[in-house]
Amino acid sequence: MKTRIIYGPILSRRLGRSLGVDIIKNPDSRKNCNYDCVYCQLGHADYKVTGPEDVKGTITATKVIESIQSYHRNIDDLDYITFSGTCEPTLNLELGEMISNIKSICEHPICVISNSSLVGREDVRSNLAEADLLIATFVSGYEDTFRSINRPAPGIRLEDIIKGLKAIKSMEKRPKLGIEVMLVDSEIDFPVNCTDREIERLIEVLKQIDPDEIEILTISRPPAEKYITAVPDTRLKEIASRFDEEFGKDRVRLVLRGLKRGRSKMRHQNIDEEVYDLILRRPCTFRQICTSLGITDLELRPIIAKLMSSKSIVETGSSEEVYYKTP
Ligand code: SF4
Repeated sequence: MKTRIIYGPILSRRLGRSLGVDIIKNPDSRKNCNYDCVYCQLGHADYKVTGPEDVKGTITATKVIESIQSYHRNIDDLDYITFSGTCEPTLNLELGEMISNIKSICEHPICVISNSSLVGREDVRSNLAEADLLIATFVSGYEDTFRSINRPAPGIRLEDIIKGLKAIKSMEKRPKLGIEVMLVDSEIDFPVNCTDREIERLIEVLKQIDPDEIEILTISRPPAEKYITAVPDTRLKEIASRFDEEFGKDRVRLVLRGLKRGRSKMRHQNIDEEVYDLILRRPCTFRQICTSLGITDLELRPIIAKLMSSKSIVETGSSEEVYYKTP
C-alpha cells in the first residue's frame, strides 16, 4: 500500500461529527507514535518514533490541502476537522501550515488530538496555536506512573509536558485547551492512575495547567496490554465528582462507555476503502462501523467478509464483543 493521508468520520460526544485527518508516514506500520501506551487500541508500536525529525516532510501541507478540498464536502453535518488517528499529529512540523491552509478553504473549526509529548517545544506550540481546540491526553502527575502507562520515547519528560501545557494556556493566540484524563485499571500489580493518591496529584497538576475543560474517561477498546482493564463506572463517577468539586461541573465532562451515537450522514465515494480506513485508524465493532459510516448491516457484511478473506483485517476482543482491526 502506498503512503497516503487517511480520512474518516469520527463520531464523539465532545466533537460531534468530525472528519479525521491522519498525517501518517507509513501505512504499513500500525502506528507512528513516540509513545507506546499500555492502553493503546492500535496494539504495540513496531517502531517508536523518536521525534518530529523522524517523520519530517512525509505528508506535506500541500498534499493535505489538495486532498481535503473535495473530501470535506462529503459529510453534510461536519462539526470539526480533527487531526488524530494512527499517529501523533504534532510529530509533523507542517501541522500549523496544514491547519492554516484548511482554514483558507472552509470554515469548519479544527481540533488536534495530541498525546501532549511535544508541547514542551516552542515550534510545536506555535503550530498548535493555529487550531481551535487542542485535546491533550494526560495520565499522571507522577513521572514514574507517566512512564509506565505512556512508555514514551527517550528524552520525553513529564516536567516539560506540564510546562508546555501551561505555556499553551498563556499564549495570546491559542486553541481552547481540553485535557483528556485517560484512566486505567489493572488485573495485576501495575501502577494504575485511578487510585486516590494519583487522582489528588492529577488535580494538583491540572490546577497549575488550568485547562478550559477536562474529560474523564477510561478505555473502551481492547488495549495493547491484556493486563490493563477499564475503570469501573462507579469509580469513574466518584473521580468525576472529585474533579467537579475542584474545577466546577461546567469544566468537567465524564465519558462513560457504551454511549449511543447518531449515524453519520456521509456521502460515499469508495465504501470498501472507507471501511478499511476506519478500521486502520482504530479497531471497531460491526455496529460502530455501521454508525460511523452511516451504512446498513447488509452493506457492511460483504465488505467485512472480503477484508477478512484477503487477511486485510482480523478479529480481536472477546466472543461477546468482536472488534475488527488491521493485523
Ligand atoms: S494511545 Fe495514542 S499516544 Fe498512545 S501509543 Fe497509541 S497512538 Fe500513541
